[in-house]
Amino acid sequence: MKKRIAVYPGSFDPVTFGHLDIIDRAAKIFDHLIVSVFVHSSKKHMFSVEERAEMLKAALKGKKNVTVDCFEGLLVDYVKKKKTCVVIRGLRAISDLEYEFQIAAINRTLYPDIETVFFMPRQRYTYLSSSVVRDIAHFKGDVSKLVPPHVAKAIAARKG
Ligand code: ADP
Repeated sequence: MKKRIAVYPGSFDPVTFGHLDIIDRAAKIFDHLIVSVFVHSSKKHMFSVEERAEMLKAALKGKKNVTVDCFEGLLVDYVKKKKTCVVIRGLRAISDLEYEFQIAAINRTLYPDIETVFFMPRQRYTYLSSSVVRDIAHFKGDVSKLVPPHVAKAIAARKG
């Protein structure tokens, strides 16, 4: 049988328990999940693409059907290159829907076979985003309930 491959793209700046919740759910349903850090040069980031990918790899160690990658350019081209048509996204609240709906529709215009599959995280992560983590980190707050320990450590090291 053909392997069901899915791509989960995002900034992951940094990876949070919300992202990991979505990854767990998707990895149960797909044979192979590629978590891919989107290289967006015009956006200001807390961590470099390499650092973000390393933090993801450390968080996903032991998950046999999940790999971490990076990509630049159009998502549809990347997805085709990975020989799949499935994109995973997370939906925290209705507020995510408008943006996600637009992206999914545009991607479908560019690549009619693409399917965007949405997962809902457990309720306690519905308020969680990387930008919330970055804001808390900026004011030297405690992020230990929001990100894995090695990410919290990297954030603390970044603050100096
Ligand atoms: P963000 O900066 O908003 O965390 P990312 O680009 O890293 O965004 O997110 C990638 C995908 O993961 C998006 O589909 C986003 O909606 C989803 N996501 C991010 N955080 C969560 C969360 N706490 N629960 C569910 N999905 C999430």
